[in-house]
Amino acid sequence: MTSLQPPPPAISAPTALWDAIDYAQRGRRVSRELALSLADVSRSHHAALWAAAAQMRDLGRPPVVTYSRKVFIPLTNLCRDVCSYCTFAKNPGDPRAHTMSPDEVMAIARAGERMGCKEALFCLGDRPEARWPSHRELLKRYGHTTTHGYLVAMCKRVIEETGLLPHPNAGVMSSRELAELKEVSASQGLMLETVADRLCGAGGPHEHAPDKRPSTRLAVIRKAGQLQIPFTTGILIGIGETPRERVEALLAIRDLQDEYGHIQEIIVQNFRAKEHTPMAAAGEPGLIELMTACAIARLIMGPDAHIQAPPNLSADYGPLLLAGIDDWGGISPLTPDFINPEAPWPNIGALGALCQEAGYALTERLTIYPDYIDRPGFVAPAVQPFIHAQLDCAPGLVQVPR
Ligand code: SF4
Repeated sequence: MTSLQPPPPAISAPTALWDAIDYAQRGRRVSRELALSLADVSRSHHAALWAAAAQMRDLGRPPVVTYSRKVFIPLTNLCRDVCSYCTFAKNPGDPRAHTMSPDEVMAIARAGERMGCKEALFCLGDRPEARWPSHRELLKRYGHTTTHGYLVAMCKRVIEETGLLPHPNAGVMSSRELAELKEVSASQGLMLETVADRLCGAGGPHEHAPDKRPSTRLAVIRKAGQLQIPFTTGILIGIGETPRERVEALLAIRDLQDEYGHIQEIIVQNFRAKEHTPMAAAGEPGLIELMTACAIARLIMGPDAHIQAPPNLSADYGPLLLAGIDDWGGISPLTPDFINPEAPWPNIGALGALCQEAGYALTERLTIYPDYIDRPGFVAPAVQPFIHAQLDCAPGLVQVPR
């Protein structure tokens, strides 16, 4: 054995499987040691993991699966990073490169409001002004020196003028930046993606993406916890990480959740290969692999966690319900998934019918999960009235437990 190989699991895979099932039946999260061993459970036993995860999800909670009705606002598709699988980011010379004007942002938000959306998901590249002088010039025309300043201003306008609740997904940020966004948003997000540092090495998907360093991203998630920001994070599977590294990423998220209690949901997202990218020919994880990752996420995070898988990234997404997820994430009746534009959203009615067939009611939620709405310190006082206005207007939403 070379020193580069991970140590053998302390618990054999067959033992780990049966221990995990036992834990799940009792609603107990698996230990770190047990979680790491689950990475080695043979494929022929994965269905048992899915069933255990589904059983854990169903313990003590109503048969409800949630989603958030939202508009996606791609504030800018410029980025200072280059990830090998990304087609969202464009260089300024590309005719598809675009930074939205304030009028464009408000037009999407208002159209979403008319269609019953409640969330404005701002997605954007990481700090593009650090790389592109033309972007700095544009920001100046809009009265800002940073993309962050522009984002805060647009979140403020959207929440005040439309009532949609902003959820910025703005990349790596400082504590000050996170705190400023907390004043104008209901929740925030940053995918951890992976804890595999080696994927930042030569030839790795994150070689030219300094903002994808796992330690950097974990530090942002930690800062969000210190600031009591309801936070969405998750893992991206299939970009070259090993099953063990997936488990390590989930354990890193759990450690932060145990310390700060701010992780409102964990996304398990499957890599999709895109044409004209360096990873165009890379293999994609299949449904079985995704289901197993969702199940392990549930077993690690526990019965109360919210485990999300996007329905538009799997041709046949229904079976994900059998692997312990309880949320489909954001679905828009208006805007495409700008990160995966080739993957259309499912029809919400069809999704509801599928959930019903499986025994679950598809129910809308806000971007901020109910548990956090009235938890002291987790919502800025200026934002609280907008959240309660949404709850008052839409009694069918998943409600705050009282
Ligand atoms: S995945 Fe995100 S950080 Fe990476 S290049 Fe695309 S927009 Fe930038």
